[in-house]
Parts: sequence; C-alpha cells; structure tokens
Amino acid sequence: MSQPNWNEEEDNFDLTLSQRTEELYRIPNSEPKADGLIEAAILPLRDMVIFPRMVSPIFVGREASLLAVQEAQNKEQTVIGLTQKDPELDDPGAEDFLPIGVEMAVGRLLNMPDGSRSALVQGRRRVEIVEFIRLKPYIKVRARIINEPQTADRQTQATMRSVLSLFERCVQLDRSIPEEAHLFALNIAEPGWLADMIATSLALTYEAKLRLLLILDPKARLGQLNNLLAQEVDVLELEDEIHSRVQNEVDKSQREFYLREQMKQIQTELGEGDVFTRDATDLKKKVDAANLPEEAKAVALKELERLNQMPPMAPEVGIIRTYIDWIVDLPWSNASPDNLDVKNAAKILERDHYGLKKAKERILEYIAVRSLKPKKERQPILCFVGPPGVGKTSLGRSIADSLGRKFVRVSLGGVRDEAEIRGHRRTYIGALPGRIIQTMKRAGTANPLFMLDEIDKLYSDFRGDPASAMLEVLDPEQNYAFSDHYLELPFDLSKVMFVTTANSLSTIPAPLLDRMEVIEFPGYIEEEKVEIANRYLIPRQLEENGIEELGLTFEPAALQRIIREYTYEAGVRGLEREIGRICRKVARMKAEGKKYPAAIAPEMIEKLLGPQQVFPSEAERTDEVGVATSLAWTENGGEIMPVEVAIIEGKGGMQMTGQMGEVMQESGQAALTYIKSRAAALKIDMDAFERLDIHVHMPEGGIPKDGPSAGITMATAIISALTGRPVHRHVGMTGEITLRGRVLPIGGVREKVLAAHRAGLKTVLLPEKNMKDLVELPKTAKSELKIIPIKHMDDVLAIALSDKVTVEPPRPRKRGDENVED
Ligand code: ADP
Repeated sequence: MSQPNWNEEEDNFDLTLSQRTEELYRIPNSEPKADGLIEAAILPLRDMVIFPRMVSPIFVGREASLLAVQEAQNKEQTVIGLTQKDPELDDPGAEDFLPIGVEMAVGRLLNMPDGSRSALVQGRRRVEIVEFIRLKPYIKVRARIINEPQTADRQTQATMRSVLSLFERCVQLDRSIPEEAHLFALNIAEPGWLADMIATSLALTYEAKLRLLLILDPKARLGQLNNLLAQEVDVLELEDEIHSRVQNEVDKSQREFYLREQMKQIQTELGEGDVFTRDATDLKKKVDAANLPEEAKAVALKELERLNQMPPMAPEVGIIRTYIDWIVDLPWSNASPDNLDVKNAAKILERDHYGLKKAKERILEYIAVRSLKPKKERQPILCFVGPPGVGKTSLGRSIADSLGRKFVRVSLGGVRDEAEIRGHRRTYIGALPGRIIQTMKRAGTANPLFMLDEIDKLYSDFRGDPASAMLEVLDPEQNYAFSDHYLELPFDLSKVMFVTTANSLSTIPAPLLDRMEVIEFPGYIEEEKVEIANRYLIPRQLEENGIEELGLTFEPAALQRIIREYTYEAGVRGLEREIGRICRKVARMKAEGKKYPAAIAPEMIEKLLGPQQVFPSEAERTDEVGVATSLAWTENGGEIMPVEVAIIEGKGGMQMTGQMGEVMQESGQAALTYIKSRAAALKIDMDAFERLDIHVHMPEGGIPKDGPSAGITMATAIISALTGRPVHRHVGMTGEITLRGRVLPIGGVREKVLAAHRAGLKTVLLPEKNMKDLVELPKTAKSELKIIPIKHMDDVLAIALSDKVTVEPPRPRKRGDENVED
C-alpha cells in the first residue's frame, strides 16, 4: 500500500495498479490561491489513515462521499481526506473531524461486484482545515497547505540513517514487507516523506498512524517513527527466535520420521517386512489366544496399546514386550486333571520308594479325600523334615507322578532378599518376576506340585523378610492372590500343592511352620540301606551306566563294606554315588574288552573304590577316664560325640572349648554344681573345686555345637576325671541335667539312637520320658542296642562308670601348702 508498483493488497480492480496510478497522475493540480488556501470537498475517513504521496484503495459508501468524489472528478479537482474523531458517526458535523487532513487525488470510481464502490486515491500533502464552507449535500472546506522542508539538517540526517537501518532489519524479519520497500526508502531524501513512507509500510496500529499524521514537524515525526521501529524490531526478533526454535523441533521430528520411514523401506527390501508391526500383531494374537483372567487381559491390552504408540526403537519397547510375554506365558487357569485313583497312587509310591510309611500314608489319605470330595480346594502344605539323602525330593517327584501333576522345585537356601521371591519392580532395569512366578511359568500348569527346598535356610536381613513373602505363598487365606512386584497382578497359587523340605525344624520361622504339616523322614539303618540299594539304587545305576544287561549284583557283605567304610551318612546319597562309581568301572572294563566280575564281592571294594574312607573311632578305643560319649543331633542326622575332661592345677575354674554354644556351657555349669553338691557321696575332695581347674572339650572343635542334651555326658566325664573311674566305652548317652541331678528329655531321639547303632555302641542311656520316641525305630536297631531309660544322674553313673579306680585321682594341694612352697 503506497507507491505504484508494489502494492499487492487489492487486485480485484479491473486495471493493474500501475495503470491506475498513471491515471491518477493525470488529475491536474488544484493549485492554492495567493493566500496559500485551497477549497475542496471532504472525503470523511472512518478508521484509515492516508499519508501524502501514498496510493491506497478506498471504499466510498456514504452518499455525501459519493457526491464529493463525483464533484471533484467533474471539476478535475482534488478532495481532502479527513479523519472522523468517532468512526461510528454516519453524518459528521464540523466539530467531528481532526484538524489535519491530506489533500488527495481520486481515481476512477469502480463498481464492485457486491454493489459497493471503490476508488484508488493518492495523497498529496498535509492540509490544515481553516473553515467549513458548507456541510450539505457534501462537506466543503477551506484549508491551508502545510509545506515541509525538502532538506534535512545533520541531526535529522542521523535520525534518518537510524530509521533506515532499523527499517532494513524490519524488512529482513517481517516477510510481509516487500524487499523493494527498503530500496525505495533509501532513495528518499526528504525527512517528512521518509517518515510517511515507512509509516505506511509498517503494520502499525491505527492510533500510531494517526499520531504520525498529526505530527507536522518532520524531525519530530521521524523521531517518533524511530521509537516505533525500535519496538517493532524487538518484537520481530523475539518472534523470529521463537519461530526458529519451533522450526528446530519440527525439523528434528521430521528428520526422525524420515529416517524411520527409510528404515522400514530397508527392512522391506531385505525381506524382513515390517518386523515391528508384524511382532505387534503376533503379540496381540497371543494375548487374544491366551486364556487370561479379565484383569490380566485388560493390563496386557493396555500395554499393547502403549507399545503401538511408541516409536519402534524406543528403549521401553523391549521392557513392555517382555512384560506382555510374561503375562501371556503364565499358567493363569489351565490346571491339569488330577488322577485320584488311590490304588494307582499307592502302586507308584511303592514302586519308587522303600519305607517312608508315614509320608506315603499321608499322601494316600489326601488322594482319598479328594476323590470323595473333588471340590475341596484347599491343598495340604507338607513339610518333609530329615537329613539329606533320605528321599524327600524323590518322594515329592513320585507324589506328582501319582497325581498326574507337573513337578517343579525351587531352592530357598540362602535367599536373603524378599525380591528373590517377589521380584523387582519393573522400574528397575532388567527386572524380572521372583522365583515363585518364574517357577510357575516353568510348570506351565496352574496346579503343579511345587517343592520348596531348604525352607529352614531362609535368611532375613535389611533387604527385607523373605519369610513373610513365603507366608503369603503358603497361607491359603492369601495365596489365591499372590502379589509379585514385577507382575503387579494378583496370581492365584491356591491350586498349587506345596511341599517344603528342611533338615531341621528349629530354624523355620514359627508362623511358617504353623501352616505346614510336618512329616519326619528318619535316617536309615544299614539294613534299610542295603534294601534300598538292592531295590532302587543298583538297578538305577546299572541303567544309567548302560550295563543293565550284564546282570551285575552286589553281595550283601560288599554293600555293607561300602556303607561302613566309604560312607558316613543318614541317607543314601553317598551310597548311590559309590555304587555309581563301581558301575562306571565295570562299564569301562566291558568297553575295553577286559574281564569284568558278575558279582561284586567285599574284597573287590578296595580295588574299585580305593582305600577305606571312614574309620569308626570307637573301634580302637578302650575304656578311658575322663571321656564319655554323647549322642548328638545334627542336620545331617545323628552323630556320636566324645566329651573329654582334663583336670589341671588351678584355682577352681572351668573352661569349655570346642565351639560350645551358650546353652551348652550353662548346661556344663549346672553339671558342675550338681557334682559339687554331691561331692561327698561321689568321694570327691571338696578342695578339688578350689585348687584345680576343669577343662571340658568336645573334639571337632571347628563345628559349632549347642543344646542342653550333653548335660549328663559332661557330668559323667567330669566325675570320671575327678574320681579316676573309667567310663565304659560302649555306652552312649543323651539327656539334660538339672542341678539336683534329674535327667530331662531331649529331642532328635531317633537320629541319635540310629547314630549309636551305626557307630557300633552297645548301650544307650535315654531319658525315661523319651522312651516313647522309640516306636518308630527299626526293629534291628532296637534289638541290637540295649536302650536303658534313666531318671537320675545316679542311674547314669551306675551304668556308665566302672567301679574300679584305674587312675590315681588328681590330688588338690591342701590348704596352707602354698605357704610352705612360698
Ligand atoms: P533328599 O531330598 O532327602 O536330600 P533325595 O530325594 O535327593 O534326598 O534322595 C537321594 C537319593 O536317594 C535319590 O536318588 C532317592 O531316590 C534315593 N532314596 C532315598 N530314600 C529312598 C527310599 N526310601 N527308597 C528309594 N530310594 C531312596
């Protein structure tokens, strides 16, 4: 909007802009009269400003305006464009106009398609209204022409330069201003004109334009324009900065999009197709096909949705896919049908295991109840307790077999961290579900037989309490909705049959123990081991080593030798290992074409297995003073443990070594107090307790020992040492002692008695109240051992101690002796 050939704004005129401008120039000047005044019609302007020399289209709406324009054209005169103070007024009077207007030439009136009229006008110069000549039918005024200086002083020139450089910046930043505008401005020498020209080019507000029009002094006008330009440049630069930032973002995402498209193309070229979408569809199919509970399905679908909205290379993609895979792969509801045929189950259990009557009976009872009442949902939680190698795990396997359930097992030994059971939250990198859920996935059915090994070896520390997580697994009130941190969905464990195993009950947390039905697995005696070897271990090892067809047998005496001289255990794991070694040797003989034996005789054993490994320590012992044999219980079964006592000169102290625990030490103190109180009857010099030191030691000092059951043994050994009467070497004993010498019952009787039997002892002294525990003992052990019930320390001493004094009892120095010596 201004100079001829760069106005692009209005092009619905029928003439080109330059043609129309030429036409304008043909309008003759209406030169002022001698007094510098002109008379002209007014064209009232509502909300536009026309600057001198600028060309602009204008709408002629009002009747008065039309008359004014027609009159001017008829007489080849100019009109004065005068701005109304209030643009809303339709019929303005003399006082309704601003005092300054612009004289202008009006081009041909054009009829517009919508019925209005328009014309092109060109401003000429500012005029000041002097007088209103008339108001009707159109307004006519007398006005004075305002002449502006053509040249600029130095200060004004400086302002012009500043204005021009700011304008240049504006043109660079604002694309709506054509570049020629700057060129045009450079060629204007008149300061006033320059101000007017630039004001027209800028997108200034109406008010700002009006103010510029009203400033008559060109210098002041330029100054004002300079301010406006500076503001404008500021705003434009800010806009530009924002724009380029946005542009950068857009560029980046466009670039990524482009690269991704390219990658897709490359994959298609390579025949890999659109791996990502194909995988996503596969996953969706899997989710649909899996028989998921509603909640799990909803979560899986939501995650799928998230996955589909993600760019294929986003780091979360793998995490989400793995998660969905986990959901899909878990056996939420597909339980295998139970085989509830009691006879069949009995057959399988008998086929796989010798003995273990109690455990087998319990299982058959369970199957019987289930077969009568199939809907009974509660599963028993069994806890198999016993030393290693007695068949706990393998019986679990047989139970699964007989019920037709899957068998899975997980070891809890050494688990300290709750997260091992419950998993890590998915926010952790590399997070996975805990062992329970992992094992359920491995089982693939909702009702496997789930064996939890070594439940007595759970630890708890700062990393959380794995036992409380286990409680949630084993508690029927809670385990229908087990929560795993990774899965974040309740998982139903109520159809699972849990069997736990442990070597000892004492370290199982009470709340856990409470929920389990304990079944004890005894250790085996030699006779049973031979039976198990013949029936199960030998056939299995023959088969495993590919020599079943040789018909190799083991003579009973050979097996006995292996058991006695090469293994020392309550179970049969070591026995099976040694049998396996022999089988491998024979297999090698056969493979090498050498002669091999048809039956393994006792004298071959040493050649096959090397020198004897285990030496029964009792065999070479004679009756000794100050050594008694106690029967101990360990996690590996029972064991016999000698208690040694030495008396030395001292001040009446007692020392106990061999890693004895607190309870055991207190029990030793109690024994000592009892002995003191009975010193006279036992013929012990009272001075001994002040002048001598007693040292009690239990060999294999590296192994921690504890418990009160060695009480009577310690008492016996001390009395023997103080009196010089030896202890019969074939007697083993166990029992807690009170200060008055009463003998209290202890635990682990069966294992202890079996150990005594294994070690070849002849007599076992057992607290009377423990006699009832002997019921479960194998007959052979019972018949080969003399088991004597005892109530009091006197009974113990009567049986265990020899009447003859074989060693001179230690003699305490008498009171006053030290004075002599000193
Ligand atoms: P645990 O789990 O108690 O440590 P395992 O179940 O691993 O012991 O048993 C060790 C080996 O001894 C297995 O090969 C098992 O078959 C065998 N075994 C143990 N007890 C018997 C038994 N009563 N009858 C047959 N085999 C047995």
